[in-house]
Amino acid sequence: MKFEILDLKPEILKGVQDAGFEHCTPIQEQSLPECLAGKDVIAQSQTGSGKTAVFLLTIFSRLSAAQPGDSGKPRALVMVPTRELATQVIDDCVKLCKHFPFRSVAVYGGVEYDKQIKAFKQGVDLVVATPGRMIDLYKSRTLSLDNIEIFVIDEADRMFDMGFAPDIIYIAGQMPKKKPRQTMLFSATIDDNVRNLASRYMKPDPAMIEIEPDQVTVNTIDQKVIYVSNEEKLPMLMTLLKRGEVERSIIFTNMKRTAEMLGWKLAANGYPAKVLTGDVTQERRHKIIEGMKSGNIKMLVATDVAARGLHIDGITHVINYDLPEDAANYVHRIGRTARAGKSGKAYSLVCEDHVLNLPEIEKYIERKIENEWIETSEMVKDTAPEYSYGRGGREKSFERKAGKPGGPERGRKSFSRDGSKDSPKERAARPKPEMKVAKPQPSDQRKRRFPAVEKDAGGHAKPESLAQERTRPDRPRRERPKPGSHRPVQRKMEEAAQAPPSAVTHQPAAELSGMDPKDVKEKEGIVKRFFKKILKKS
Ligand code: AMP
Repeated sequence: MKFEILDLKPEILKGVQDAGFEHCTPIQEQSLPECLAGKDVIAQSQTGSGKTAVFLLTIFSRLSAAQPGDSGKPRALVMVPTRELATQVIDDCVKLCKHFPFRSVAVYGGVEYDKQIKAFKQGVDLVVATPGRMIDLYKSRTLSLDNIEIFVIDEADRMFDMGFAPDIIYIAGQMPKKKPRQTMLFSATIDDNVRNLASRYMKPDPAMIEIEPDQVTVNTIDQKVIYVSNEEKLPMLMTLLKRGEVERSIIFTNMKRTAEMLGWKLAANGYPAKVLTGDVTQERRHKIIEGMKSGNIKMLVATDVAARGLHIDGITHVINYDLPEDAANYVHRIGRTARAGKSGKAYSLVCEDHVLNLPEIEKYIERKIENEWIETSEMVKDTAPEYSYGRGGREKSFERKAGKPGGPERGRKSFSRDGSKDSPKERAARPKPEMKVAKPQPSDQRKRRFPAVEKDAGGHAKPESLAQERTRPDRPRRERPKPGSHRPVQRKMEEAAQAPPSAVTHQPAAELSGMDPKDVKEKEGIVKRFFKKILKKS
């Protein structure tokens, strides 16, 4: 569908044409007619789908049709979860409203209040805000919601994930009760949280727009899986990154600590990657994203929490260093490439730790992902020193040696994990860390008392070192549990072990584990196939 078909004013249409938009994206095609007709809308949409233009064009149309307010108070409010998204929306707004007067301001935390307050004093039509700062300004009476005619909640599911639900409910509750208002809600997933919010603050019976989860985007991405053992992951990643075709890439890990380790290892091997996790300060995050956009930064290692909502055009490759646990995240991740009609490539390393996530992902995207073989001889070697997960290990062992600016220096008061100087104010504004429970690291003292079990080249414990560990006099003895005190599955397994051999062989694994036999069979099959593939390769 072409934009000309829509009932847009010529000056708005001109902005759309100047932005290079010819045809509507699926979400635009389905929701713009409803939104432009003034309906409340709930749209299932991902970043990269073109949803920003849906609410911006609706805001432009509605505000230009009505009498301009002379109070200078904002008439449209867009709530977004992050600062980057706020600036992206403002960038799109500036691009699209080139041919008519329109005042917009982004309101987010981590920066001085002055500039934002000044904008309100001069008068604004649209406020794009993150919840925290928005509430501060509202409570200090700097920002008025009295004239809001259009209320947009963007990336609602992410707002819930980030714990903003009470803030959104508070803001929605402050909207003028008697004036008519159009509310639009955009979310990658429509769950009970979203539905509850909609039923409380939207007109009854809002239009529901559901687009197949990123199918359109996913279909334009060349996706490959590569089977690797855990040890081969880094060499395989570097082999892919070395390929000339990889211009700008995002590498995803499931955990923050893996991202940090990988960023360090890549840098030590001569691959200048930046790391984006939930621990990175707003200021540094902004710098990294700007660097990616301008092309100064070409490699980014990120976790899901840090990368959701990232909107960077020109990413040629997405590499899943770890296969995500959640199939929907696979789609979010690979959707960072092939944006705005361009093509892109997504590689997923399938290792023994995450191979069981693959069937779920393939089911979700409704297709099998093709397998790519890379010969062992082609693989780049990891020449970096051992990475230490202990505190301060990375700076001591590499960055300092390499003379990196992020390395520790005497006299500095505090450092963020990624090496940048961090004021107490910034530290307070830093986003909450991801809800991942870090594996406890043994203290040096404990390490001395309990020396690590020696492992062979394949990563297996050496039998002699295990025997030594078992017979150490200071090793605390584990009490054998009393009969009958086991959990049911353990008890069943013990009974099975004591039963005559024929009974053991007839005891199905599924029954012992309490799992559905079909699931056990399927999982056994996946693991067998994985090891077959790995063995075939070596
Ligand atoms: P969004 O999902 O709103 O973050 O948009 C993703 C990207 O697609 C942005 O760079 C937009 O400028 C671009 N875009 C939005 N709508 C269209 C369209 N109809 N044609 C081409 N590009 C578009």
